[in-house]
Amino acid sequence: MLPLQMVDLKRQYQKIKPEIDAAMLQVVESAAFINGPEVTAFAKELEAYLGVKHVIPCANGTDALQIALMALDLKPGDEVITPSFTYIATVEVVALLGLKPVFVDVDADTFTMNIESVKAAITPRTRAIIPVHLYGQCADMAGLLQLSAERNIPLIEDNAQAIGGTYTFPDGRTVKTGTMGLIGCTSFFPSKNLGCYGDGGAMFTNDDALAEKLRMIANHGQKQRYYHELVGCNSRLDSLQAAVLRIKLRHLDVYCDARRYAADFYDAAFAANNHIVTPYRAPYCKHVFHQYTLQLKGINRDTLAADLAARNIPSMIYYPVSSHEQNMLKSFVEAGFSLPTTDYLNSCVLSLPIHTELTDEELKFITEGVLAAIAAQAEQV
Ligand SMILES: *Cc1c(COP(=O)(O)O)cnc(C)c1O
Repeated sequence: MLPLQMVDLKRQYQKIKPEIDAAMLQVVESAAFINGPEVTAFAKELEAYLGVKHVIPCANGTDALQIALMALDLKPGDEVITPSFTYIATVEVVALLGLKPVFVDVDADTFTMNIESVKAAITPRTRAIIPVHLYGQCADMAGLLQLSAERNIPLIEDNAQAIGGTYTFPDGRTVKTGTMGLIGCTSFFPSKNLGCYGDGGAMFTNDDALAEKLRMIANHGQKQRYYHELVGCNSRLDSLQAAVLRIKLRHLDVYCDARRYAADFYDAAFAANNHIVTPYRAPYCKHVFHQYTLQLKGINRDTLAADLAARNIPSMIYYPVSSHEQNMLKSFVEAGFSLPTTDYLNSCVLSLPIHTELTDEELKFITEGVLAAIAAQAEQV
């Protein structure tokens, strides 16, 4: 058995090497490095996969969120509701644009935005809500979409961790995550569920006029070359990344299934252990397990992580500091502000290796190691 990693991109590459190598070589030989036919073809293929009218590629997931917010024409101090329990990029772009992040709590079972918390946070200055489909599980969109329609506040979905996942509405209609809000944003960072071999990102929308605006903002505000209508930025997906993504998109469903297989294996192994809460799977979605995240009960997390490391089992805390406690965002948080569920989860979550290449032998090794480490600690208390 090779050393275990949180994500194993080398082994994944080995399996698709001939396809990837040929596609990358073809881009190099064509010398169409920027905005070449690969980028257009990838966007079309992703539109078909997601069932969305427009996919607008850009340079990374953080840019996707930033450009989405720029397209809403907000004014300094306008408020944007986001969870605090997320990767910093979700909130950072809000502050970067001179807007005000308003933090809301998450549900302890789904790790996603709590709708009552969102309702309570809405003010006359609320201009957008950013649900994050954290760890690969879709937020409960029906309620959020209803709220968005009633209050006329657009939703921007942060789909960086959930591409390939689905959401099923109460009426049975099933759609891909990231295609329900006004704009969906994703990242193709290598370790994401659909990752390239560098940086990449995209925005999704069903609105034609908005799609054109997003495209312009990502391209220096121009539609016609050298005629700049809007203040934008330079945010491009390059052709080599698009060529890799076209191939990996064909494998995305198999990759999601492999992640779900690993999650099932973990769930079964940990089901009877009363120190472990395994990830809840909301009935309204297909969870694609960007992370497999446990909640620990009555166990010292640092001791456990150290014990696991000694057994050659990697683990990670996503994320050690929530956004509302980051120094970067201090000016947006009043003294004494707290989010009880976020703060609780922050103290007890631990993620185990999850990726597309885990074998039964490795899963067995990891689950036995985790159970042994927990038993060793439980005996001491
Ligand atoms: C990865 C990630 C991003 C940012 O994507 P980059 O491509 O790294 O800029 C944003 N939000 C979430 C939830 C992420 O996981």
